[in-house]
Amino acid sequence: MPLVSMRQLLDEAAKGGYGVGAFNVNNMEQIQSIMEAARETKSPVIVQASRGARSYSQDKFLYHLMLAANELYPEIPLVLHQDHGNSVATCKSAIDLGFTSVMMDGSLMEDGKTPSSFEYNVKVTREVVELAHAKGVTVEGEIGVLGGIEDGHGAGGTGLEHVTDPEQAARFVEQTGVDALAIAIGTSHGAYKFSRKPDGAVLKMDRLIEIHNLLPKVHLVMHGSSSVPQDLQDIINKYGGKLKPTWGVPVEEIQLGIRNGVRKVNVDTDNRLAITGAIRKVFAETPEKFDPRDYMKPAREAMQKVVAQRMTQFGQAGHAGDYEAIPLALMAEQYAAQPVA
Ligand SMILES: [Zn+2]
Repeated sequence: MPLVSMRQLLDEAAKGGYGVGAFNVNNMEQIQSIMEAARETKSPVIVQASRGARSYSQDKFLYHLMLAANELYPEIPLVLHQDHGNSVATCKSAIDLGFTSVMMDGSLMEDGKTPSSFEYNVKVTREVVELAHAKGVTVEGEIGVLGGIEDGHGAGGTGLEHVTDPEQAARFVEQTGVDALAIAIGTSHGAYKFSRKPDGAVLKMDRLIEIHNLLPKVHLVMHGSSSVPQDLQDIINKYGGKLKPTWGVPVEEIQLGIRNGVRKVNVDTDNRLAITGAIRKVFAETPEKFDPRDYMKPAREAMQKVVAQRMTQFGQAGHAGDYEAIPLALMAEQYAAQPVA
């Protein structure tokens, strides 16, 4: 099956009542881990690349690795998504390259740091929707501002400064025509999300449910949704790492989200932790080794394990064979038939 639009994956997920993990990649091994996990669990999957990932891989390496993934795993519905596009130009370059989905993060200005105005956000997001939908490509927007910083992108802070306002979210969806909506409910990017196991004071699941009740048909996206499991932190610290104590978003909270309209769940940190822990273990236990494969292989396996576990927990496992890909040209025709007001 060709690379598919994210809209189709999320529509199917809504029908089936499950969520789909969106996993970040920078290199071949991460893509291989995700594809093996998808095959193992028979899962549709979203692979996403930040601006940092695109520059690290010079775009073309990443894109051609994705084509290889698609060729080697033809049974897996696979989306290539731009994570946190900072401008119309970034989104356009992703679409031109062959991405089947883009995020226009207009919640921040083009510097990727400064919170923007609602009007600015609507303007740039709508512009991306127009050019993406003309090609059948999906658009994710963001309303409210997430906490933390990753790959140089983010406003910093705890994630509680700009929690999404439900009424504003409704106006944003109506005025932009986005396919999926990232909301801010107290989550942050990076490993240091919470300084204790999160409760309702810092992780606003009630706000998410409120937004879902107001916009029951909108596909919601949870960013910064690594769970930062203690066992992965322990492996790193046992083998010479120095992670400070930290908590992520518990899987049961993500599952509550999925029961309330969350269709895309972004996970990056957990995979980074798994890879680093596996590499540190090889270095510590067998310091005589110097073939990169000796540590990249265990790293790849450790990441595959985490991804497969999340696929099962999010409910996407077993759904890879549910549908055939809708060609992007046909998606474009469907969008053209329902223009944004
Ligand atoms: Zn994010």
